[in-house]
Amino acid sequence: MTRQYTITLLPGDGIGPEILAVAVKVLHVIGKQFDIKFDFQEALIGGSAIDATGNPLPEETLTCCRNSDAVLLAAIGGYKWDNLPRHQRPETGLLAIRAGLNLFANLRPATILPQLIDASSLKREVIRGVDIMVVRELTGGIYFGQPKGIFETEMGEKRGINTMAYMESEVDRIAKVAFEIAQKRSGKLCSVDKANVLDVSQLWRDRVNHIACQYPEVELSHLYVDNAVMQLVCAPKQFDTILTGNLFGDILSDAAAMLTGSIGMLPSASLGSEKPGLFEPVHGSAPDIAKQDKANPLAQVLSAAMMLRYGLDEPKAASKIEQSVLEVLAQGYRTGDIMSSQMRSVGCQEMGDVLLKVVES
Ligand code: NAD
Repeated sequence: MTRQYTITLLPGDGIGPEILAVAVKVLHVIGKQFDIKFDFQEALIGGSAIDATGNPLPEETLTCCRNSDAVLLAAIGGYKWDNLPRHQRPETGLLAIRAGLNLFANLRPATILPQLIDASSLKREVIRGVDIMVVRELTGGIYFGQPKGIFETEMGEKRGINTMAYMESEVDRIAKVAFEIAQKRSGKLCSVDKANVLDVSQLWRDRVNHIACQYPEVELSHLYVDNAVMQLVCAPKQFDTILTGNLFGDILSDAAAMLTGSIGMLPSASLGSEKPGLFEPVHGSAPDIAKQDKANPLAQVLSAAMMLRYGLDEPKAASKIEQSVLEVLAQGYRTGDIMSSQMRSVGCQEMGDVLLKVVES
């Protein structure tokens, strides 16, 4: 039976429209192959929304997203809007959509593709076979805890404060997401905290241990964040799924991603308790190469695959896209950001065309 999904497309700024166009073409073909009908609706976010409405996340965009099964975002931002006050900047739209959709779980895979193993700055033997999923809590912790701000003391000296705080329920719900994901992967979960120093981390660890009772088949370990970063760089193969809070996750997911060495290849997903999830590349809007047909569309395409797997429960269609991306790389096609000697240099559109051929074959 045909499955039907409404997808909100948010092309945003810079290279966003170019890379999203490639992903949409791929989804059209995949839809025909797997009996899935996509109803796409496009909305404004970021700089293009500021230009059109004065607001980086117009209310109608949020409504459109809330009424859809999944949201596929490209990227926002650009030089033109860099000097606006913080609350009017494109990045504010990004934070607002995550909050507006209550997306508390951020999933960032870091997978070494054999075809791109030399793009990493680490030795081949250290990174061959690395396949990590970082599950980061996204709506709590030190970025949101109160009190926060810069205050003046009675002595006239300024004091900056941020507060790292987690409720039990916030830890429980992100831990469940991580256990579910670990269960579908290799069954290994490492929770990262700083429980030797921080009370909030002790609560985190206690709750993760408590939730672990519901998942006896998942092997749980704990690491302090400083050790986790060292282990990630020197022996990344020991990790499968990593669970961590907002601040540590921000740092760990970037470090894990950079094991791969190629920003144009990295997708991500942000999930809440209910649909829709938000799926987007890790990279920004790359204004330096916008409208020049130089962008790598593969992170966007892989974000569409994550949308199918984690947002719409269509794992076979997701795998078909992921396998096709590997095949295109195996055939030697490379955009500038992942180019190496002996490979065939292509632009964004041509990368999309060869990918479509592989998907259709
Ligand atoms: P960026 O990721 O846009 O670019 C960093 C470098 O990587 C640039 O040299 C760029 O050309 C290259 N690059 C990025 N994506 C690429 C791709 N798909 N193909 C080929 N090369 C690619 O980061 P930045 O330069 O720090 O930020 C540019 C703008 O993007 C800023 O306005 C920033 O706020 C915004 N930004 C948005 C997001 C998002 O939408 N989620 C994330 C990060 C930055």
